[in-house]
Amino acid sequence: MTNKELADLLLPGVDSDISKYEEKYPERNLKEGAIVTRFAPSPTGFVHMGSLFQSFISRKVANDTEGIFFLRVEDTDQKRLVENSVKGIVSDLKNFNIEIDEGMLSEEEEKGAYGPYMQSLRKEIYQSFVKYLIEQGKAYPCFCTAEEIEDTRLLQEKKKQRIGYYGRFAKCRKLTPEQIKEKVENKEPYIIRFKSYGDFEKRIKVNDLIKGNLEVPENDLDIVILKSDGLPTYHFAHLVDDHLMRTTHVIRGDEWLSSLPLHIQLFESMGYKPPKYAHISPIMKEENGVRRKLSKRKDPEAAVSYYHEKGIPVEAVKLYLMTLANTNFEQWYDCNKDKSLNDFTFDFKKMSSSGGLFDVEKLFNISRNYISRLKASEVYEGTLNWAKDYDSEFYEILKNHKDYATSVFNIEREQKKPRKDYGCYSEIKEQTWYMFKELFDKWDKEYVFQTISDKEEIKNILTAYMNKYYNEFDTKEEWFDHMKDLAHEFGYAKEVKEYKENPDNYKGHIGDISLVLRIVLTTKSMTPDLYDIMNILGRDTIFERYQNWIKEN
Ligand code: GLU
Repeated sequence: MTNKELADLLLPGVDSDISKYEEKYPERNLKEGAIVTRFAPSPTGFVHMGSLFQSFISRKVANDTEGIFFLRVEDTDQKRLVENSVKGIVSDLKNFNIEIDEGMLSEEEEKGAYGPYMQSLRKEIYQSFVKYLIEQGKAYPCFCTAEEIEDTRLLQEKKKQRIGYYGRFAKCRKLTPEQIKEKVENKEPYIIRFKSYGDFEKRIKVNDLIKGNLEVPENDLDIVILKSDGLPTYHFAHLVDDHLMRTTHVIRGDEWLSSLPLHIQLFESMGYKPPKYAHISPIMKEENGVRRKLSKRKDPEAAVSYYHEKGIPVEAVKLYLMTLANTNFEQWYDCNKDKSLNDFTFDFKKMSSSGGLFDVEKLFNISRNYISRLKASEVYEGTLNWAKDYDSEFYEILKNHKDYATSVFNIEREQKKPRKDYGCYSEIKEQTWYMFKELFDKWDKEYVFQTISDKEEIKNILTAYMNKYYNEFDTKEEWFDHMKDLAHEFGYAKEVKEYKENPDNYKGHIGDISLVLRIVLTTKSMTPDLYDIMNILGRDTIFERYQNWIKEN
């Protein structure tokens, strides 16, 4: 029996002409050096930080080189599928503004000329390639039952030998065409294996863009390429898809590093040039001095929904991811604060080969700096979008008072050294509630006074301020002069310096007076600029709050 007859016997009705695929999916017409890469998740749940990190890097290198980034859904393990996860993956990428050039747009739709981008829809293509390999004598059927495979594994374990289907353990490799024919006719179920030509004793040199040059044993495993359900294994789908989709760079988790010799052999057995590989180490976390992998179970920040819930601007998360990705980014960004991520070129060589260390504090710092440089209108939009999903009360207030809220967010912003009080959008209500009447009125307020705590003295100060010193049209200097006069009237020094020189001459200084005015107005002893706050609140609100406090105390 010829190989061709064997192939027809094993895969009847499958067309082994793979040249049509070469024509259908031609070399891409891109500029020299363009990187074609992909995010290839299995639809088994939601995107976590590790895979977001990978797609972020992939998108970035494609951008840097005017290449292509596509989304391929790897659903060949039908047992592990989780319903609606493609939807989740697509929306997670969208939430982080990671656009795809090609690939799945939803559970059903896709875009791009190199599809289908859902592996279960590529069955015909894989089978064609499998049949081609059988014809070439590079693949063969395996009739071993699950029990037989398990027995072999136990034996190998017992004898302390490598686990797997190789060498003398590869029983079906030795079957004659007649034996195969007989088994097929007897309807014995089979799968198809790759006939490895490797020698485990030999070592090959492989290059990884992140890990560098490695020397590893050749692959000699006869791995399964076509399973009993007619779908390929990951390894074989990787060969077929990344060849036909003209992937130039495979950027993936380093759990695949050990399969690299196999993958290189698969590409070589077809006469294809293997893509370049970049194996990313898992993101790490340090806890009590011990390093471990960022864990979905233990670390809330491992879930991408965390960033959305907290309201950390997507751009800030990306800036942080870049600091994790490239060790030289932080310094570059320090010197180029007005530039964006697009101006920085990612470099595989600047990636940590042992895994970046995730630091939530640092992420919030980056976010705080980032938000401080936004325009008030951008902070307004960001907060509004966050509140829409997570705080309907604040959302209504913001929506109904757009200009007012924007002016609140504008306090000490758009200046050389802007205030840095907001680490994320979900913190903003907690820090600005006293600026919104609807919130102030219902807030559970606690006034903690400091140097001046005598209620009568406070009442007198407030009354004098309202009657004599408040003028809604004051400039900042005039307002400050009035505060000084108020301090003087009550026996407090107009300047802190004066007070320090002669503390016995005064009850205190101007700071103590302004603190009283600040606390009754906002309940807080520390706020942004009081003049700005008063200006935005306006006369009626200021007087109402002062009068109410006097009445209630
Ligand atoms: N589906 C594989 C995974 O989720 C993809 C690995 C790759 O990028 O090739 O690990």
